[in-house]
Amino acid sequence: MTAIDIPFNRVFVGDREKAYVAEALSSDRLSGDGRFTRRCSELLEQILGAPRVLLTTSCTHALELSALLLDVGPGDEVVVPSFAFVSTANAYLIRGGRPRFVDVRRDTLNIDESKVEAVITPRTKAIVLLHYGGVSCEVEALLQIARRHGIAVVEDNAHGLFASYDGRPLGTFGCLSTQSFHETKNVTCGEGGAIVINDPQYIERAEIIREKGTDRTRFFRGEIDKYTWVDVGSSYLPAEILAALLLGQLEARERIQAARRRVWTTYADRLESWTRENGVRLPAVPERCTQPYHHFCLILPSPECRVRLMECLRRAGILSVFHYQPLHLSRMGVELGGQEGDCPVSEWVSGRLLRLPLFAGLTEVEQARVTDEVLRFRC
Ligand SMILES: *Cc1c(COP(=O)(O)O)cnc(C)c1O
Repeated sequence: MTAIDIPFNRVFVGDREKAYVAEALSSDRLSGDGRFTRRCSELLEQILGAPRVLLTTSCTHALELSALLLDVGPGDEVVVPSFAFVSTANAYLIRGGRPRFVDVRRDTLNIDESKVEAVITPRTKAIVLLHYGGVSCEVEALLQIARRHGIAVVEDNAHGLFASYDGRPLGTFGCLSTQSFHETKNVTCGEGGAIVINDPQYIERAEIIREKGTDRTRFFRGEIDKYTWVDVGSSYLPAEILAALLLGQLEARERIQAARRRVWTTYADRLESWTRENGVRLPAVPERCTQPYHHFCLILPSPECRVRLMECLRRAGILSVFHYQPLHLSRMGVELGGQEGDCPVSEWVSGRLLRLPLFAGLTEVEQARVTDEVLRFRC
């Protein structure tokens, strides 16, 4: 078996990140909410133009925080796309909420806005939007639906940092949105995330829930002279070492994004006629969307073809990966009542989608090996 020498993802850590981590290590504060955390939050607030950003230990935890902030409880329902990551549904399920799965659009693989209203009931608390690959959902239509029914919109923006819709950053449309800094995302600190609070009414309570249900954040700001237990809560603060690493990555964002963009456009250019000749599709990027070059996916004409292409690449030492299993057909989804045929587009695409290696440090030589291998392949 050939060893994989072109991974799907390779973390790219520069000198600035290393210097910041060293600085955090030699400071007198290793726990959360120190200087590096503050600088990350401020930078993210500035990048997004959002009133408040709080770092969390993961995007999963930021989603859990959103469930607590929206008071999702037993019997409440949350609308989520079936073609999504487990945390997008789990964060509400663990509060007793019930996910109502909606199919995705064939073009962008985002939640199909025309199918959302059919699952809304008086128990619906929120619609969770996932901008797949950082290409925006039809936010205008979706926000209108939510407004009409008086329900909240949360954006799972794990893929969509630095992307926009009509010039406005993704992650700023919902009352709350979440970011991921897991190592597979565009900027990373290994494991990490953030909650973006666009509706200021949630700011104070978010600070409390994130700090174990105490008003310690206000205490640190000098607004009160002692802190106490005031609400439910958990511990969602990343340590300063992680915030230091994240700050370095965020400050290198232009370089990271330029490199990812170069890789993405090289794939698109070199594979253009091959995709046409082989009945392969790329997810659409509508005119109003700018994308963050989070991943490069191919939608192959059949599941059999995907297996063969993956195997072909693997034999050449290249790792390609697929996702997602439709949530409604996973073991948990079936337990919740999911059935085959509920979300046909999610079922269709999940067997055919393949993601090629895409990361800032992918060299031209490596990428040429990937494209040469793909170009030799016939579906
Ligand atoms: C990566 C990802 C998450 C989870 O992020 P973590 O930071 O690992 O918890 C959630 N939603 C989507 C869409 C993701 O891609």
